[in-house]
Amino acid sequence: MKTNRLYYTNAYLTEFDATIILSEGSCVALDQSAFYPTSGGQPNDTGFLIAENIRARVNDVTVENDIVWHHLDQPLPAGTKVHGVIDWPRRFEHMQQHAGDHIIAGAIWETFRGVTIGLHTGQAESSIDVTMPEGKTHLTDEETAQIENLVNSRIQQNHPIRCWFPDEKELETLPIRKKPTVSENVRIVAMGDFEMVACGGAHPSTTGQIGLVKILSTAPSRGNMRLTFLAGMRALHHYQASYKCAREISARLSSDVYAAPAALEKLLDANASSLKDMQSRLMQAALHTVLQSKTMIKDKTVYACHLPYADAASLQQAAKALIAEENTLVLLSCQRDNGCLLLFARSADAQTDMAALLRNAGARGGGKPDFAQGSAPDESVLQTALSLL
Ligand SMILES: [Zn+2]
Repeated sequence: MKTNRLYYTNAYLTEFDATIILSEGSCVALDQSAFYPTSGGQPNDTGFLIAENIRARVNDVTVENDIVWHHLDQPLPAGTKVHGVIDWPRRFEHMQQHAGDHIIAGAIWETFRGVTIGLHTGQAESSIDVTMPEGKTHLTDEETAQIENLVNSRIQQNHPIRCWFPDEKELETLPIRKKPTVSENVRIVAMGDFEMVACGGAHPSTTGQIGLVKILSTAPSRGNMRLTFLAGMRALHHYQASYKCAREISARLSSDVYAAPAALEKLLDANASSLKDMQSRLMQAALHTVLQSKTMIKDKTVYACHLPYADAASLQQAAKALIAEENTLVLLSCQRDNGCLLLFARSADAQTDMAALLRNAGARGGGKPDFAQGSAPDESVLQTALSLL
């Protein structure tokens, strides 16, 4: 027993009549069906089986031993006559992605001798896995454009796509791109005179119906190359969204779309340069303030200063500059989220243990005797440290 799959001969059949021949729970098999079951990387159809006064939703479709199973939202008994209606927009979109698989796989074989080993039509994006010569796992931008140009020109030339079951004799003579994985009832799909493989999927009748193909990326995947792409309206929607982004960005940069990358580069360079300039000014201001805090304690020069606007890097720079002088201690702090950041440093010849001083003053932290860092709830810790000297 097997299901007569109506999409094999007519991929455009959206409604049909059939009889339930098997019923298990809420799964039913029909004598014939236009519903496409998940197989060959192409997702299942959804839709309805309508019997008298009953409209059962088809949530999933699977195939097992040549029997197509329709997973319904309610049970229907064997013998029931039903009218099947498939969700056509969903099916057609899958047909576009699937035919996109074929046309890209053919172009990659022809151009780079890459062998496609897997296809996957996702809900958002689709991908093919390709074994490339010499273990190549990605395409350059130029190679990607080369494949896109070839594929889209073949789409625009609107070649016929033909599916049929050849007999053994004819099969031997066909220039198929790769050996079929099945030996009986081999179904062939051919696009124009440039692509021919065995496939049980649902395809549009011409390449023009694929509409548009855009390759999104190529990346390594288990030693092969995974090529991710969009076809049909998905590719158009992606173009619309991407162009909207590009226009918004270029408007903010007061440039046209193509000049936006250069304008952005210029802006980033200008920002980096102003940041550097601002840091240098901050550093000079910090040093100026710190120098005014100069005091002598016992025979040592001591600088103790709270710099609320400074950051850790400018504290370090200021400290480094000051401890170049002999017999010098530097106690600095700056504002941090909840409290202040501390930096205690000394010149190499001064004997004070700055890490011990930091802790004894009640701060958290530590470091080496000549250079310690820590934190405290507020800058009053500097006064405590000074009183300990
Ligand atoms: Zn196919």
